Amino acid sequence: ASGCSLLRDPRHNKGLAFSEKERDAHYLRGLLPPACLTQELQEKKLMHNLRQYQVPLQRYMAMMDLQERNEKLFYKLLIDNVEELLPVVYTPTVGEACQKYGTIFRRPQGLYISLKEKGRILEVLKNWPEKMIQVIVVTDGERILGLGDLGCQGMGIPVGKLSLYTALGGIRPSACLPITIDVGTNNQKLLKDEFYIGLRQNRATGQEYAELMEEFMAAVKQNYGEKVLIQFEDFANHNAFELLEKYSKTHLVFNDDIQGTASVVLAGVVAALKVVGGKLSDHTFLFLGAGEAGTGIAELIALEMSKQTNAPMEDCRQKIWLVDSKGLIVKSRYDTLQHFKKPWAHDHEFVKDLSEAVKAIKPTVLIGSSGVGRTFTKEVIEAMASFNEKPVILALSNPTSQSECTAEEAYTWSKGRAIFASGSPFDPVEYEGKTFFPGQANNAYIFPGFGLGLVMSGAIRVHNDMLLAASEALASRVTQENFDKGLIYPPFKNIRKISAQIAAKVAAKVYELGKLSLLKYTIAFFNMIEFFFSLSGLASRLPRAENLVKYAESCMYSPQQEGPSVIMIQRGKIAEVKT
Ligand code: NAP
Ligand code: MN
Repeated sequence: ASGCSLLRDPRHNKGLAFSEKERDAHYLRGLLPPACLTQELQEKKLMHNLRQYQVPLQRYMAMMDLQERNEKLFYKLLIDNVEELLPVVYTPTVGEACQKYGTIFRRPQGLYISLKEKGRILEVLKNWPEKMIQVIVVTDGERILGLGDLGCQGMGIPVGKLSLYTALGGIRPSACLPITIDVGTNNQKLLKDEFYIGLRQNRATGQEYAELMEEFMAAVKQNYGEKVLIQFEDFANHNAFELLEKYSKTHLVFNDDIQGTASVVLAGVVAALKVVGGKLSDHTFLFLGAGEAGTGIAELIALEMSKQTNAPMEDCRQKIWLVDSKGLIVKSRYDTLQHFKKPWAHDHEFVKDLSEAVKAIKPTVLIGSSGVGRTFTKEVIEAMASFNEKPVILALSNPTSQSECTAEEAYTWSKGRAIFASGSPFDPVEYEGKTFFPGQANNAYIFPGFGLGLVMSGAIRVHNDMLLAASEALASRVTQENFDKGLIYPPFKNIRKISAQIAAKVAAKVYELGKLSLLKYTIAFFNMIEFFFSLSGLASRLPRAENLVKYAESCMYSPQQEGPSVIMIQRGKIAEVKT
């Protein structure tokens, strides 16, 4: 082993933090200047450098360079400075990075699977250097954040999401695989851009699209087995719902835009009700936007309501109303509605605009998920405040420019009575001598812990009850001190602890559902226990650890350079692998 190749290997490179002993052992003498720095000092230097950059994209690129140079240090920075760096490696900066991906592209960070690879996808997967993959994040680039179709340049999203899986959820970096499926783009600007890195054609649709996805999904299962988690990310909604429905029966799949958002927002709503009072079923919900986020959240709220009250789902859905680009979703529109909107077509006369709908429905909770900014007008918020002591107002659309209203507007127009949270961060607001701290309904609260829970229990299917368990775990982490500030989400600085709690609750649910189905099959097939694994089995990593929170924490990757650097779970046991 030459010292040079060690320095060029981001997974093992420590730069100036190599000790004297290591420099001798690994042929590094003379390849580094004499000074030995601690990892803490390296971190201090890099944070100092990062803060010098005024342009967010420069910070993003500096972080990407670090990831390619010294992976452990990259994660150490991200973990120790999560509140500061989350907006750099993820939304909003990652959006700009994707828009300019062609020009800032240096080295591939994930797998590109395009129509050119049709018939050879398994071969492509085998080109990836890592064999033990636990989490895949895949996009086809058609709906990147609120930015629309960025084609192949959507790669920044899976890369960014997976770095959060590692930093916040402790999934080992080597077990993460970012993938972009390239079926072309309808973004004419990109097609004309000489630096565009993707296929230069309009998007394939219909059967051609479905066949490529089918081959991809089959190849993933064949190459990595049943327990690899496949997260669909930023697909346009016409494909997202269909892919999720289709592959949730045969694969461990999760759509963060639909399910992750739902789980995060339900947690915020449940926490808010501790301040507002009443059970879920005492409340009326109105959404602006009936796409992946809107209908996903609505469905999970109805499910939780149904669990709490034992009422059928149909009855619970009656408490939830949605407005799309055409107006209120009602029965008379039924025949022309996309299938994911049909369950929400209730009996009511058609109402065209939001403020009319607010006055007609009188919701206690108003949720914006339309991607259109400035739609919660003064009239809308004043109406909410006129019939609610404490109106719950969630403006989820990203980025900041698309937020349905600002934090300041929500607090001012409701005379300081709104319980407010948003998708993109807002600074604290002062209103009549009181400071309000708006919370952020960031998906990063849930998906890293959720994924860890699935992976550590060996789940092979995602079930809605697991999303509810994650929600509950997150909502229970909001303290009185947080509530007093107006927050309905806990601060991010403890996120790894929160992720471990979420993972434990999710894993517990996986085992519980596994046992239930075991029971079912035992009765049905008289002890054919293997059916538990092959047919219905949700958990396959046995025996179950007694303390799941401790177990989750012990599974989490840590970038500390001393001690065991990688912890792997093999057949239920923890194996330490020193690097
Ligand atoms: P989507 O599937 O495309 O859905 C958008 C929905 O908004 C559609 O139902 C659309 O109506 C409706 N809409 C568009 N313009 C409208 C208008 N002027 N008035 C009323 N409704 C309108 O998108 P999505 O994935 O749900 O995402 C929507 C937004 O939520 C994005 O900005 C995203 O950033 C944000 N989001 C936030 C979080 C979070 O805070 N954690 C998570 C996920 C998403 P039609 O169906 O009639 O076209
Ligand atoms: Mn997304």
